[in-house]
Amino acid sequence: MTTRRKLIAGNWKMNGLKADGLALARGIVDKLKTAPAPACDLLVCPPTSLVALVAEAVGGSALAVGGQDCHAKASGAHTGDTAAVALADLGCAYVIVGHSERRTDHAETDAVVKAKAEAALAAGMIAIVCIGETLAQRDAGQTIEINRSQLRGSLPEGSNATNTVIAYEPVWAIGTGRVATPAQAQEVHAAIRAELVQKLGADTAGRMRILYGGSMKPDNAKELLALPDVDGGLIGGAALKVADFWAIAESC
Ligand code: PGA
Repeated sequence: MTTRRKLIAGNWKMNGLKADGLALARGIVDKLKTAPAPACDLLVCPPTSLVALVAEAVGGSALAVGGQDCHAKASGAHTGDTAAVALADLGCAYVIVGHSERRTDHAETDAVVKAKAEAALAAGMIAIVCIGETLAQRDAGQTIEINRSQLRGSLPEGSNATNTVIAYEPVWAIGTGRVATPAQAQEVHAAIRAELVQKLGADTAGRMRILYGGSMKPDNAKELLALPDVDGGLIGGAALKVADFWAIAESC
């Protein structure tokens, strides 16, 4: 039987100054020291401005740190961008690529997301590849095809169950308080797993983690995390409070 260890990942987005980031990171590290360990891996992805500070604050604990985006190139004339190797150098073990906010705000295509994910792997990090349909696409009955096609286009070359995590984030559920029902989440997660079987084979697909993201909160986490193909969560709003993030981790 396949056992996939769940991953609870906090996506802080563009929130927080130094004091906020430190308080949040230290709060989670304190929980790790004093409370029973949750049955999952824990990750926080601060804004780039706070990565170095947070990486230093969590140093030596079981809390991993990740970036929210990286450039596809390792260096060069790309003003304002951050190379994957630079994130790894700061202590990041993971980087999120292809979040719908990046796809929308910065017109990132599947090909761009794939190149970024490949840069993450080359830098020795785990890529969290985000996919998800909009409300219009769901209403048009295109949910499964959109997710399968985004996955096909965004999955990095050389991906395996250890270096790649998929995050299914229905765009209509992100930051809206409108969460996918367990049936909706499981249907898409199962379709993603089926696509992974085709691309990477049953063994790798069976071991690769697929996270759900979109208004996951302490009060709905347990139900979502109990679904057969949901292997963790990518948490936005609820990751900005230690108590909420921890409560979700405890739901694993
Ligand atoms: P949310 O964000 O939990 O605030 O909906 C999730 C995400 O965008 O990763």
